[in-house]
Amino acid sequence: MVSSRAVQEHLGIRNQRVLEAMRAVPRHWFVPQNMQREAYADRPLPIGYGQTISQPFIVATMTELLDPKPGEKILEIGTGSGYQAAILTKFTPDVYTIEIVEPLHRQVLPRLQKFGLGPQRVVQGDGYFGMEKAAPFDGIIVTAAADHIPPPLLAQLKPGGRMVIPIGPVHATQRLVVVTKDASGKTRSRSVHPVRFVPLTGGPRR
Ligand code: SAH
Repeated sequence: MVSSRAVQEHLGIRNQRVLEAMRAVPRHWFVPQNMQREAYADRPLPIGYGQTISQPFIVATMTELLDPKPGEKILEIGTGSGYQAAILTKFTPDVYTIEIVEPLHRQVLPRLQKFGLGPQRVVQGDGYFGMEKAAPFDGIIVTAAADHIPPPLLAQLKPGGRMVIPIGPVHATQRLVVVTKDASGKTRSRSVHPVRFVPLTGGPRR
């Protein structure tokens, strides 16, 4: 498992609850057979279909920025391996996640069942449009890069809610952006950290 010290040293993550969550979720469950030896390295790993499981540092950073509280309803866009979603369940049971690649979605279902997330919560579809049936959300975490904030996601954020999303040119370095919506529905965003994510696909037809 990622030791708390390793996470702290690499990332400067001091949030105790994030460290505990990372200790509680075995990353090797989410890594393909042929990558097991690297499951606890602090780097992203391929999971097939051109996709990756994010680097633990980035998972920790995004979780800390999202700051999910017990009982809050959270939506993740880009289930991938399911690792980030499993980490989120250590903060609140009310987690939804959506993946666009059908075979990845199918693979992850039994895995996330172990973390209390059944097929109502682990959904296949285009997350650009969020998840209308479960909206609104206290927190939205997007684990693929977009060149703009998808308007449907903003609309599905509760007043007082937060969104963490990598924004910038796809296939290059993006910045992690934290969007907050205040009680009156006004949004503010701040850019916090350089990252590199696979592209968010889908969205409206151009
Ligand atoms: N959170 C994942 C890492 C995700 S990699 C983990 O913890 O392992 C990004 C994922 O986003 C990929 O699996 C990709 O297929 C998915 N994705 C890309 N565009 C999407 C979209 N529009 N809707 C849902 N998922 C999307």
